[in-house]
Amino acid sequence: MNKVILITGASRGIGREIAITLAKEKNIIIANYNKSENKAKELKEKYNIDIYKTDISQETQCRELVKYTLNKYKKIDVLINNAGIDKNQLITEVTKKDWDNIINTNLYSAFIMCQETARNMIQNKKGCIINISSIWGQVGASMEVVYSISKAGMDGLTKSLAKELGPSGIRVNSIAPGFINTDINNIYSEEEITQIKEEIPLQKLGNTIDIAKCVKWLIEDEYTTGQVISVNGGWVIT
Ligand code: NAP
Repeated sequence: MNKVILITGASRGIGREIAITLAKEKNIIIANYNKSENKAKELKEKYNIDIYKTDISQETQCRELVKYTLNKYKKIDVLINNAGIDKNQLITEVTKKDWDNIINTNLYSAFIMCQETARNMIQNKKGCIINISSIWGQVGASMEVVYSISKAGMDGLTKSLAKELGPSGIRVNSIAPGFINTDINNIYSEEEITQIKEEIPLQKLGNTIDIAKCVKWLIEDEYTTGQVISVNGGWVIT
């Protein structure tokens, strides 16, 4: 592929799998991490992936991440906004701090990353942006109201930017995963996971590779933009 690809939240889970999959395709990968420094260093050592520490919830640090990438590689072909957090709580328990933390990490960061990267992509008259949203942005989740808002917002960002940036040759899409086997789901018991599997038509959880394969396809594709692609085993069919 030979592309310069910037991925947020790539130290663990889905982002990590995307980074490794795309590194194997001979791309230059810039993998952002925040707390998991050892896991990030492993990416550098094993897969020759460039790693950069950024707390994506901080606007200035997002802008620094793009600046670092452009100074070093001169262009960004693909931006993948993947970093995300969740917190299970009732609406009555949500504090302003919870709101700021989830919205800034999941949504405002994606907006700033798109804004900074778009300047370069517009100049180049090409680019691909992929936002990792969620099934819960599509249909809403009980006790995850702020998370669901953040992911619905990401899909809004995708649709709007696809229209604005399409004439500049830039495609923007969301991937909305269902239940993917990663740390973010550690809160669920074995029993709850068995119940969830039974609700999913394909009767199994997703793996990180399922999302990475969809990302790879979206990068190679040339005519898909403004879409929210569900990778969820049929759990929700919209
Ligand atoms: P995960 O295993 O918990 O990994 C989260 C990643 O995000 C980590 O690499 C973490 O980096 C990074 N991150 C978190 N806060 C950050 C911050 N402030 N700055 C920079 N990086 C930060 O989660 P995952 O399941 O892979 O989720 C990846 C994305 O997919 C998220 O946006 C999530 O909402 C979405 N998603 C996941 C599922 C699922 O079932 N797994 C379903 C739907 C959507 P550090 O550890 O280095 O801090």
